[in-house]
Amino acid sequence: MNVNDLAVVKLHRSAASATSANGAAQARWSVEAVQALLALPFDELMFRAQTVHREHWPARDIELATLLSVKTGGCPENCGYCPQSAEFDTGVKAQKLMSVEEVTQAAQAARDAGATRFCMGAAWRAPKDRDIEKVAELIQAVKGLGLQSCATLGMLEAHQARALRDAGLDYYNHNLDTAPEYYGDVVDTRSYQDRLDTLAHVRAAGISVCCGGIVGMGEAPVHRAGLLAQLANLDPYPESVPINSLVRVPGTPLADSEPIDPLEFVRVIAVARILMPRARVRLSAGRQQLGEAVQALCFLAGANSIFYGDKLLVTGNPDADADRRLLDKLGYASRAVGVVAEDAAEGAHA
Ligand code: SF4
Repeated sequence: MNVNDLAVVKLHRSAASATSANGAAQARWSVEAVQALLALPFDELMFRAQTVHREHWPARDIELATLLSVKTGGCPENCGYCPQSAEFDTGVKAQKLMSVEEVTQAAQAARDAGATRFCMGAAWRAPKDRDIEKVAELIQAVKGLGLQSCATLGMLEAHQARALRDAGLDYYNHNLDTAPEYYGDVVDTRSYQDRLDTLAHVRAAGISVCCGGIVGMGEAPVHRAGLLAQLANLDPYPESVPINSLVRVPGTPLADSEPIDPLEFVRVIAVARILMPRARVRLSAGRQQLGEAVQALCFLAGANSIFYGDKLLVTGNPDADADRRLLDKLGYASRAVGVVAEDAAEGAHA
């Protein structure tokens, strides 16, 4: 693409602008316009992403996210990347919902370590109302410690989202995973529309939205563009956007997927930043396989949040000391919060 083509990208964007519910103009992105961004020369893409980033965020401010699995494994869905599905033999041992006491203890420890938000993931397809009642108690316990709360529990109905809001839930994570056109290759026990419906219920309840996806699942580049367009066209777009690089867990159907080229991953981060300037763009699952240099490029591309700690829900993560060393090496500030990511590569909603 040459510089003239950049004008075309801009034109696509402005021509498709819409007015959001709060009266602010929000761009509508076509898949073609997103593809054009992804195909920019690398230096141009990085320059544009960093420029957008500096306009909307303090430089070098990296949010550290922590996550607790409050109910692990045994999920009846068949998300092809997920070791928590009961359909796949991945060695994950199913555990029932943790007690209020256990969660309070973990939340207290997170707060003592500097966390300001505490996130809970449960491997359910869709919680029952009695599950929501129990999670409401967990939320209240977390809030009682003065922490913000977030959760990822699977599909929700409207009244369940309202019940979670009434219990004090601040954020809900529910990922779109991939583009609609590739979704059926990843999971067939639920539909893309199911995902969108849950996100709409969460938004309508007044809970902040955390929503992203996974790359490296064998999708074509057009599907990455399609995912990014879907996320950016949510109105409003999510407050947090976790981008996962598939962790290929033995025993899952996607274990043999072709890994994404690391520079392609950086491009996805950069385009997410350009499309959703005010979102926290989070490096989530798969950081271990990226290495320090690629992570540094991701920060340059506009990522400003990482999952932090030795473990996500069930897969590994770079250890906390290694993260501190990397951020120190880069001269970055960081602050600990707990955020949730329907962390894809290991259990999208958990
Ligand atoms: S990603 Fe979530 S819904 Fe899918 S199998 Fe894993 S725990 Fe279940």
